Amino acid sequence: MSNSSTVRVRFAPSPTGYLHVGGARTALYCYLYAKKTGGQFILRIEDTDLERSTDESMRQQMADLNWLGLHWDEGLSFPELEDHGPYGPYRQSRRLDIYAEYAEKLVASGKAYYCFLTDEEIEKQRDQAKAEGRPPQVDSPYRDMSIEEARARMAAGDQAVVRFKVDKVDRQYVLNDLVRGEVTFPSDMVGDFVLLRSTGMPVYNFCCVVDDALMKITHVLRAEEHLSNTVRQMMIYEALGFEKPQFGHMSIILGSDRQKLSKRHGATSVNDYRERGFLPEAFNNFMALLGWSSPEGQEILSMQELQEQFDLDRLHHAPAVFDEDKMKWVNATHLRALDHGELWRRVEPFLNEAGLILPKDPDWQSRALSVFKTAMETLVDAVELFRPVSSQALSFDDSAKETMNWESSKLVVQAWREKVQSFTGDYLSEDDFSRIQDEVKEACGVKGKFLFMPIRVAVIGKPHGAELKILVPLLDKSTLVSRADQALAF
Ligand code: GLU
Repeated sequence: MSNSSTVRVRFAPSPTGYLHVGGARTALYCYLYAKKTGGQFILRIEDTDLERSTDESMRQQMADLNWLGLHWDEGLSFPELEDHGPYGPYRQSRRLDIYAEYAEKLVASGKAYYCFLTDEEIEKQRDQAKAEGRPPQVDSPYRDMSIEEARARMAAGDQAVVRFKVDKVDRQYVLNDLVRGEVTFPSDMVGDFVLLRSTGMPVYNFCCVVDDALMKITHVLRAEEHLSNTVRQMMIYEALGFEKPQFGHMSIILGSDRQKLSKRHGATSVNDYRERGFLPEAFNNFMALLGWSSPEGQEILSMQELQEQFDLDRLHHAPAVFDEDKMKWVNATHLRALDHGELWRRVEPFLNEAGLILPKDPDWQSRALSVFKTAMETLVDAVELFRPVSSQALSFDDSAKETMNWESSKLVVQAWREKVQSFTGDYLSEDDFSRIQDEVKEACGVKGKFLFMPIRVAVIGKPHGAELKILVPLLDKSTLVSRADQALAF
């Protein structure tokens, strides 16, 4: 059970799209902070925008969080979507009665009011304010209407929103932001704002405060773009007599052109990176460094190390630049450090997906990985590296035909085939290969490209490609013989 000193942090995605890099970084920081402090990590689904929210998006985001290993202690369970924890429901669309109750409290205490302004009237006010050079704040004639009168109008069928009554006194709201330090908002920065729409749907600032307070959230870590919402939220906290959590607003993430990271910069969804063969631990490592640095400047960190070293006072307020080359380097470093059994487990789905047929023997797999992994930055890179050793019929292109049309080529491949055929053993070693190649050279009296290129065609179907001394030891004798036959026959 939690007690008052337990850290409780929440990640509160809106299921209106995919989980993108920025959201995943927020989730990671929340998770790391909860783990580091022995606190709780809560997942709350902010789905009050009914038109844009979908279950599909919610499920995908939850699957992405799971893939990243950012398991939540409380929230909707996945895939069952059941409330798990003492402060549910954890989907805002299931909490509408709670928001209505708190909105009524605010109305009853004179801190909010029913407002009957129509959209056209509000638009007109805005235009006028703009023309007069004033901030476009709503000036509602219903501010001081009695609750009875307002209720009577609603009973008669008039539509009303619940609008927050911003104190007209001139004061400053001071936020001690965990990332940005002291931020001051003048109270006249905002006009009376909507809490509940006439449909009963709450707006983000309102349900966020109600939920953060009722869910006993101690630290609100979120994107910088929410900083300007925070003054409204502070007003609501005060009006409801709730204790405020601590806030930390993460720096924005820029693309390499120093514009805000967006789809224009290529993949920004977590799922895209997963499909491109990034490892979750590498993705977390890389994201952690977008806005945080380890005390010793360590760049490659395991999840365990991140949990130990992470702290809020090392979050940077300067924008972070997303550098995909660095991301690949971080990925390659994690990938190459995996033991071969584990690396194979990660790579196998990509190889299967590409339709490659490869030996099931773990020794072969380990041997293949030790030669290929140095050229792999992502798991997807394995596909083209393994393709030449997949046991499928070769396909020969024009350059292969051209090579095989050279006068000596058939002779070379025949000699190669015979020597491989008479080799005793299943696989040639690198040395066996060099020896046999020398014997073919001698027997046929050819050298240079007239030697290497026909043999390469007989091994991989193409005169160019990866080094044969790497590939040949990964192809068993019968495959080598059958490929030589195919080269001779086409
Ligand atoms: N649903 C909001 C978002 O996805 C959450 C903001 C917050 O953490 O307060 O941006």
